Amino acid sequence: MYKAASVNDNSDSIYFAPLLPWQQTLWTQLTARVLTPPQSLPHALLAAGMQGMGKRAFVWRLVAWLLCREREQHPLGACENCDSCQWLKSGTHPSLQVLPSVSMPISKASSHSQEALKSTNKKIKADTKSSKAADKSALTTKVDDIRALQPFIYQGGQGMRICVLDHAEQMTIAAANALLKTLEEPQSQVHLFLISDTPAKLLPTIKSRVQQLPLQSIDAGVARDYVTHMLGGTVNREAVSPSQIEQLLQLANGAPLAAIDLAGAPWYSKRALWLTTWQALRSGKRSSIAASDYWQSQLSIGEFIQLTEQMLLDIRRINLGLSSSQQDIDLTAALQNHQPSDSLLESLVDSLQQIKMALQQNVQEKFAYDRLMQQLAQL
Ligand SMILES: [Zn+2]
Repeated sequence: MYKAASVNDNSDSIYFAPLLPWQQTLWTQLTARVLTPPQSLPHALLAAGMQGMGKRAFVWRLVAWLLCREREQHPLGACENCDSCQWLKSGTHPSLQVLPSVSMPISKASSHSQEALKSTNKKIKADTKSSKAADKSALTTKVDDIRALQPFIYQGGQGMRICVLDHAEQMTIAAANALLKTLEEPQSQVHLFLISDTPAKLLPTIKSRVQQLPLQSIDAGVARDYVTHMLGGTVNREAVSPSQIEQLLQLANGAPLAAIDLAGAPWYSKRALWLTTWQALRSGKRSSIAASDYWQSQLSIGEFIQLTEQMLLDIRRINLGLSSSQQDIDLTAALQNHQPSDSLLESLVDSLQQIKMALQQNVQEKFAYDRLMQQLAQL
């Protein structure tokens, strides 16, 4: 069995975390291209696709291995001991540049960089008042950032140099244009890794100049085994059944790491409670103010919005005559006496979007919660 890679991991950083089981073939292919002369690793690679498939885990692991001084002796992953591996651990590798800087993996943090990023974002939140704006700008690569990279790329010299551009779709247009020049003039020993959760937003001119890593096809059985193993047989301290694993994977669109995160998300265990609240609101048994107060003590507004979005998605599925993607709560029974119209559902989906935008303008959570509960009462 493989070792735990994203939960309870002993490894102190994502660079040396175990290879995810669905990435083994790609790992073997790429490393062989590096180890077999003439070395033929593409100059610019793109790791793209939805969150939770292990893109970043793969990229950081490969970066560590490419830089490792002992990689010939350690084809399965960086050695962890050579100078290069030590530099990575201390976050001071002279041959690695990362943009935006918050994407630089943090040693001793949890093992996949999304987690590291989250903890960095938390720090940003704690440090600034307008946290939402800071979050967004922290992920944006600007033209000056790309320009500052040029001396590193063109310096020449011995050994491999690597640039990682995370959240590549959030680059400004000017930054993307500056990057194009670099992509058109490959430098020997320099490799660029672009990472994007929403590659549809990448400029076509960028996309056409990078080679996409095939990280998106994950065998369903491998995903199932992995999620089962990683959850250690329980969700919310209750034994997890194969059908619950299936459901987690379905809700996560097949992305195993996202399915694991979902199992641990605070809102996931509160789906039945959401139904109870909705019905109590509709029947007038509970006031929207009381419901708002209660839920504020349970979930952040962001989590409650995620929960509501998931529930609305399935209510719409049932309206369309499809089966609910949540088999562990009885939505069909709940909808027997009252099925909200499509237009009501749509207007609630719209207001969820509006509330999300309002929250970015620092609208108070309580205000947003009150408004949402009033709308749920009318659904
Ligand atoms: Zn090493």
